[in-house]
Parts: sequence; structure tokens; C-alpha cells
Amino acid sequence: MLEDAFVTRKLIAGNWKMNGSLEANEALLRAVLAGLPAEPAADVAVCVPAPYLAQVQALCQGGPVAWGAQDVSAHERGAFTGEVSAAMLRDFGCRYVIVGHSERRQYHGETDEVVAAKAQRALAAGITPIVCVGETEAQRDAGETELVVKRQLAAVIHALGHCVGEIVVAYEPVWAIGTGRTATPEQAQAVHAVLRAQLRAAVAGQRRVRILYGGSMNAGNAAALLAQPDIDGGLIGGASLKADEFLRIVAAAG
Ligand code: PEP
Repeated sequence: MLEDAFVTRKLIAGNWKMNGSLEANEALLRAVLAGLPAEPAADVAVCVPAPYLAQVQALCQGGPVAWGAQDVSAHERGAFTGEVSAAMLRDFGCRYVIVGHSERRQYHGETDEVVAAKAQRALAAGITPIVCVGETEAQRDAGETELVVKRQLAAVIHALGHCVGEIVVAYEPVWAIGTGRTATPEQAQAVHAVLRAQLRAAVAGQRRVRILYGGSMNAGNAAALLAQPDIDGGLIGGASLKADEFLRIVAAAG
């Protein structure tokens, strides 16, 4: 197909979640930077807690590791105490921002519409949103996986229109996040194929949208997952906090 002619490099993005300290971040990033080849075979990024963006920018500037945030406000500016705007993330050189992570949806009540608004704000500021979708275990057991992920992605497509071609999607089954229970490559591929079809219908003729898999990806299971035809990379939580593990996942993406 036309867009397959524009297949991009895989993307391995770390999600540090609410972990780290000035000291630990520096040690982790120095080890990752030292372990990466000058031209990694995949794109590499780390999405870090907002207070550390300046530190990570200083350590990664000019190197092979891009950086980003884990959330962004749905509002442009103003009286939204505690929130961080897309323009602020841009000031710190963010290339990416995660939006709609299941922990945000679950603990902060983020709806599909809020997630879509956040993706819109990020794009307007020139930052690529990594839009997370995924079903809970109960939804999978009820046979609702396809329905749920398509509904979540549809809200973003509705808000962004053709600009949806600029985003990255991450399929993260909620039951696989931080649990050590990874989706099998076949389970993941089946959902990625559904998302791919939905994206193709929305962005026909544009470049291929990268669809990452996330959920207990590690150095042991990365190669099999990344070998699937519709898996374009990984969003890595726990394993991104260990330099050696993270580097082995990047190597598996090459
Ligand atoms: C995540 O939080 O995005 C994630 C995939 O976490 P983990 O790899 O720890 O399951």
C-alpha cells in the first residue's frame, strides 16, 4: 500500500512514570547514552517527570535520545493550577508527550474527549503526542477489546482529522501494564491490525502512523513483539528504568 512505502523507523520510548531523582536520572541517562551506537537502528526517547525536563534536556541535547513528558494540559494557558501547557513543554525541547495513559484515565478521570484535546494541544505546539489506548481485563474478558480501542482512537481522529497522521499511537492493554503479563505477539498484533485499519481509513495517502506496543515489554520478549508486522515500537515502563534492559530492547528494534 502507498503508506507502507513510508514505513518509518521503529520508536522505543521509555515512560519513567513517577520515578527518578536528579542523581538517578543522570546515572541512567549516562549509561543509556554510553551504550547506544552513534546511529541507533531505532528512534529512542524517554518521557520523564516534568520537573526533570531541564535536566534531561541538558543531558540529551544533540544526542540520539529524544525526550518528552508524560502528560500535558488540555488548556492553552491560564488558571489551571498544577497543570503544564504544551508551550511550556516546547520550551524544554520536548519532542513527545504521552497522552491518555491508562493511569491518567483511571486515576484522573480522563475521558476520550479530554485525551483528544490534549493530543490537539500537543500537535499545535509542534510536539508529537503518543496517544495510549487499551482495554481492561474485564473488557477483554467481555469480548470488548476492539470496541474499546476503536472508541478511544475514534475520539482522537474526530478531533484531529487528517492531522491524526502526525501522532504516535500506543496500544497498552491495561492488564499488561506493570504486571509482568505481556500480551502475546499474536494478541498484540491482532489489536494493532485493527488500529492500523482505522488509521488507514482516516489518513489514506499519508505516511504510516507508528503504533507502539506497551505492557511489560522487556529484553526477553521485545524481539518477538517487535517482529509483528503492525508493531512499530514499544512504550516501555519498568524496563526503561534499567539502562541495560532498555538498551537491549532498543537493539531488538533494529
Ligand atoms: C507503561 O506504563 O506505559 C508501561 C508500558 O509500563 P510497563 O512496561 O511497566 O508495563
